[in-house]
Amino acid sequence: MIATSRRNLILSAAMAGAALGLDKSLAIAAPARRQQTADPAQGFFRYKVGDAECTALYDGIWEKAHDAAYFSNATVAETKEALAAAGFITAFVTIPITVFVIKLNDKLILCDAGGGDQVQAFNPKSVFVSGKMMANMKAAGIDPKKIETILISHFHPDHIFGLLEKNTNAPVFPNAEIIVPAAEYKWWTDPSLIARLPKGRRPLARRIQAVIPNWKNVLPVEGEDEVVPGIRFVSAPGHTPGHAAFHISSGNEQLMISNDAAYVPALCAMHPGWHGVFDQNAVVAEASRRKLLDRVIADKMMICGSHFPWPGLGKIAKDGGGYALTLDVA
Ligand SMILES: [Zn+2]
Repeated sequence: MIATSRRNLILSAAMAGAALGLDKSLAIAAPARRQQTADPAQGFFRYKVGDAECTALYDGIWEKAHDAAYFSNATVAETKEALAAAGFITAFVTIPITVFVIKLNDKLILCDAGGGDQVQAFNPKSVFVSGKMMANMKAAGIDPKKIETILISHFHPDHIFGLLEKNTNAPVFPNAEIIVPAAEYKWWTDPSLIARLPKGRRPLARRIQAVIPNWKNVLPVEGEDEVVPGIRFVSAPGHTPGHAAFHISSGNEQLMISNDAAYVPALCAMHPGWHGVFDQNAVVAEASRRKLLDRVIADKMMICGSHFPWPGLGKIAKDGGGYALTLDVA
């Protein structure tokens, strides 16, 4: 169905191009820059973990054009095969962005903040749409002013730019306490970092350094502390130096919000040994991924992730040399 609507888009663009007297190849190239995946009919999804009420909020989608550098040890053909095996279209990598609000012990906790409509696709053939979190939060009946605590997994743009107003860098949640992994905070706010980063990553580090250390409501937390009653940071470095997952425990139930430890499960969980270019230290990221997923299986936890197929909640099981995600959207 998706393939058909994509073909129709291309055909209609080609016809429109012909009507305007445009070069045919230009008209055919244009639709690749538009979002082709439909947004979910409802941009929020609610479920319970013991007494905790979790609400997944849809923030947007990255339709990532294939490129040979995505995995250092898997080809584009292998990537397409893995997508097809999991039932995805293979024209691009489908990477939704989901944030989570947890209501536990009468506290409202936001887990990561999405991209705030400020994330650029690296490749002009890709599409990156973000910033729908706020509208979907309101649709879910959650008042953003009532959010007391924000947990941040790591400082990549699709997880923190939703904290910053687009043109002013003003805080979107000035009254919330923003709890971040200390290792992540230290790494990104080190003034000597910028010269050591590849050029493409420098604007991100500059923006972080210009803004985050000046906010009085940012609290770096070491290790695997309980950051709010019932929720702990779980150290899962490699994707970035301080990347953390969030573990929720209530009654007899547990949920691991895995964030970017296994970002696109059809690729990174099914093939945990594939080393992604967006994992800063891919060897460390692989070890963290395996450790986290093994723990989720051993302790029979539910799992979700920032880039799992919407709405992201599921169970994970060993499948050959990898881990298979089964979505649980009952
Ligand atoms: Zn991410």
